[in-house]
Amino acid sequence: MTWQTSSTNSSVTEHIAETIGLNLKGGEVIELVSDLGGGKTTFVRGLARGMGSSDRVSSPTFKISNEYQGKYFKLYHFDFYRLPEAGLVADELAEIIGEPQNVTVVEWADIVQNVLPRKRLTIVFTNKGENDRGVAFTYPKSLAYLMKGSI
Ligand code: ADP
Ligand code: MG
Repeated sequence: MTWQTSSTNSSVTEHIAETIGLNLKGGEVIELVSDLGGGKTTFVRGLARGMGSSDRVSSPTFKISNEYQGKYFKLYHFDFYRLPEAGLVADELAEIIGEPQNVTVVEWADIVQNVLPRKRLTIVFTNKGENDRGVAFTYPKSLAYLMKGSI
């Protein structure tokens, strides 16, 4: 299934994410796709808030992954920007994805496509101007509950 919307500033992107964060049941995988500055990390900030986390969300670019504590679930935030290969981190990612109490978001997931489950929400942000972004969601029917309150 697909659904498209737009965002006119970072607060809108955070709000969209927050709504999805409230719908999580645990075990979900979200792949975030965009150019640099598209709003992927901004989205994670809203998602963490929706999950009831007050942890500070920042780009894990140099650490590869960050971990935030939500009210019910842990949020794992991976970013493989410019990493030539995932190595052992791919195994770590696979283990985290396998835990139903975890929610996993991945930026620049090209090198871990083989680890990501087919059952995932993919969100593509398109830069349309300084603050304007197209936001396109693709997901299997089994994840349609994530869009509750958005569509
Ligand atoms: P990415 O993780 O995709 O590289 P970031 O979320 O780190 O992107 O950065 C997005 C930048 O774009 C931030 O500086 C943010 O304030 C800005 N921005 C402007 N408009 C938007 C929008 N509509 N949605 C998300 N971020 C936006
Ligand atoms: Mg980022």
